[in-house]
Amino acid sequence: MNRLSDRVNRLHPSATLAMSARSAELKAQGVPVINMSVGEPDFNTPQHIKEAAEKAIRENWTRYSPVPGYPSLREAICEKLEQENGLSFSPNQIVVSNGGKQSVCGTIMALVNSGDEVIVPAPYWVSYPEMVLMADGTPVFIPSGIEQDFKITPAQLEASITPRTKALILCSPSNPTGSVYSRDELQALVAVLERHEQVFVIADEIYEHISYVGQHQSIAQFESIRDRVIIVNGVSKAYAMTGWRIGFVAAPLDISKAVSKLQGQYTSGPSSISQKAAEAAYRGPQQCVEEMCEAFRRRRDLIVKQAREIPGLEVNEPQGAFYLFPKCSSFFGKSDGTRVISNSTDLAMFLLEVAHVACVGGDSFGAPECFRMSYATSDENIVEAMNRIGKALSSLK
Ligand code: PMP
Ligand code: GLU
Repeated sequence: MNRLSDRVNRLHPSATLAMSARSAELKAQGVPVINMSVGEPDFNTPQHIKEAAEKAIRENWTRYSPVPGYPSLREAICEKLEQENGLSFSPNQIVVSNGGKQSVCGTIMALVNSGDEVIVPAPYWVSYPEMVLMADGTPVFIPSGIEQDFKITPAQLEASITPRTKALILCSPSNPTGSVYSRDELQALVAVLERHEQVFVIADEIYEHISYVGQHQSIAQFESIRDRVIIVNGVSKAYAMTGWRIGFVAAPLDISKAVSKLQGQYTSGPSSISQKAAEAAYRGPQQCVEEMCEAFRRRRDLIVKQAREIPGLEVNEPQGAFYLFPKCSSFFGKSDGTRVISNSTDLAMFLLEVAHVACVGGDSFGAPECFRMSYATSDENIVEAMNRIGKALSSLK
């Protein structure tokens, strides 16, 4: 007898979380692993945000919140969207969830019917196709290699749209590549979307504040498709708050209501204390965000320089987020005498076991010729990790 549902049987576990757990296990055994697998800021949550949470506990913000989040937080999010993105939303168009991950999933669940196609540009964040499959939809991938800076072209988008296409998931700045779509590039994609009125855009902007190319450009800023764009964002990356679990969607009213309806039956409103902390993040001083972004930019420069010195790796220059996504296919078919590297997952395993650096193979991101390294770690760790990786790779013949 099959005890589990088909739904869960066909689900793949999250490769990013699995690799991070493996690296923590090895560390606990005393292996000096440098963990560059999971994507989360290494900074502590800023003090004023932690104090807001302490105050929330003292003042008994400890009961159920409204399902879509406290009105005061949703107002703070509307103010953020207006001031930073020039976008006007009302609080009933905002739904606050348990992290951006739930926001993406709730949106997909609210939009996708069985058999609907959802366009997922590859390389993609590991969870998008799995969420589409959970909703009984069909992910349709658009490949984009390092030679096109991992960004899709308007012609590729046009060619992948069918009458069954329900949505496009666009992540900029991108996990796992760090690529950022410019305003002109977005405009060109919008021109395609204008011709296909049934296609929604799920704009994952969780890395908005970690951008090295100036002001963030949101696809929601294009009026012609505005009523079909759902923004996903949250505090996890910008404010070093991954453990607090607060994300949000900003959407047309029918969609925000649907996401909230789902959430009301599935999880209810997210943690009351975390919501109070998130409100302090959005309303408080923003200097901490700039400082963290500056640190990430310095580390980006460091890791790109070192990676380019390693023979066999091909590296683009990420413009945002905190990931490097080197092409490593020149090592496929090579061996260190005990094992043959056949794909990027083999390579990530080899780097974990031999160099003691945890990365994630590109297979789970829809880019089997690459692997992902998170450089949200100290300069010393970056230098040491790249030295170890260079040495390990040079042993492959
Ligand atoms: N989208 C992308 C592209 C991400 O990398 C992450 C981080 N895991 C999320 C959404 C979700 O972030 P969280 O649930 O931690 O807020
Ligand atoms: N977004 C991070 C990553 O891609 C966190 C892990 C996850 O939720 O997948 O590594």
